[in-house]
Amino acid sequence: MTLYPKLILDALNTVRYPGNGKTLVENEMIADNMRIDGMSVSFSLVFEKMTDPFKASMLKSAETAIHTYISPDVKVDITVESKQAARPEPGKMLPQVKNIIAVSSGKGGVGKSTVAANLAVALSKLGYKVGLLDADIFGPSMPKMFQVEDARPYAEKIDGRDLIIPIEKYGLKMLSIGFFVDPDQPTLWRGGMASNALKQLIGDADWGDLDYFVIDTPPGTSDIHLTLVQTLAITGAVIVSTPQEVALADARKGIHMYTTDKVNVPILGLVENMAWFTPAELPQNKYYIFGKEGVKKLAEQMNVPLLGQIPIVQSICESGDEGIPATLDENSITGMAFFNLAENVVRQTEIRNATEPPTHIVEINK
Ligand code: ADP
Repeated sequence: MTLYPKLILDALNTVRYPGNGKTLVENEMIADNMRIDGMSVSFSLVFEKMTDPFKASMLKSAETAIHTYISPDVKVDITVESKQAARPEPGKMLPQVKNIIAVSSGKGGVGKSTVAANLAVALSKLGYKVGLLDADIFGPSMPKMFQVEDARPYAEKIDGRDLIIPIEKYGLKMLSIGFFVDPDQPTLWRGGMASNALKQLIGDADWGDLDYFVIDTPPGTSDIHLTLVQTLAITGAVIVSTPQEVALADARKGIHMYTTDKVNVPILGLVENMAWFTPAELPQNKYYIFGKEGVKKLAEQMNVPLLGQIPIVQSICESGDEGIPATLDENSITGMAFFNLAENVVRQTEIRNATEPPTHIVEINK
């Protein structure tokens, strides 16, 4: 007997796709790459998504139909394709983003998220296009700080891919891992699951054109940092610390995490948070509660810029809780401190881009 395409298509036309009850042929699920060679046939079955629940059963049914209606001797080789374009490879995500800034700290509670949020808002108020990704799986705080705790971002089909649409608030685009995890069960998200979720938030979201993509990373060193440097070419890191000795020791570790040979992410500079306390009614007075200029001295020792000093102000804490970043009030002490920080970040990013080669992602050793 001789095989020819119509014979195969007639056999496949008996197989119905359970998703809509139509046959594989009616659904145009047979790609036009059919090859026949003696008693062998190969072709692709095209699904909407690679995750189609009927994929395995359709493969089996197609093969059985050919064996039943034509001959059990036909050798069948079916490849699966999806209409959905694949996520870009590591290192090729965020093609329209100019600068990727990772905000880090050696330990928790030093104000890293507060700095990341206010830095992002200040950059956007300076006229830049800004995206903010809350990757702090241990305590995602952006939904609260931006007053969008109930937001549930949805996906839209864009250029053949289902992309998550970031939330827009205070002039910037924002996504948080907190939108996708139950805050009471963060432990579930450690390990591979969190890494995967993060890659989705980066590679499967519609971030579009951005000048600055600010990432609030978890405190300390973690698998999440590893995922980030393996996925994105981070332009530079901003390290937040308080002036306390314990915090400074951890801040050093945070710096080394980025500057080791294999990672090679430049440090844009340090931020001294909670640098001093200033009572609202005595704005000239400074009380150095956590020690004086510890971060400033660390910056000098490590030969990296000091990007800013942020005082302890009650309103920073309150505004974080209320979901209105302090920076929105440009004339407040804190507003001015964060604008100054943002201007320094811009300056250091420009210097870095002019003087150092682009960052490379960390290759995964197999
Ligand atoms: P981290 O991300 O390092 O864990 P957060 O940004 O969540 O820290 O800050 C911890 C707490 O400290 C929050 O309640 C925040 O509002 C408060 N906070 C941070 N920076 C300041 C500051 N400069 N003045 C007053 N409160 C601050």
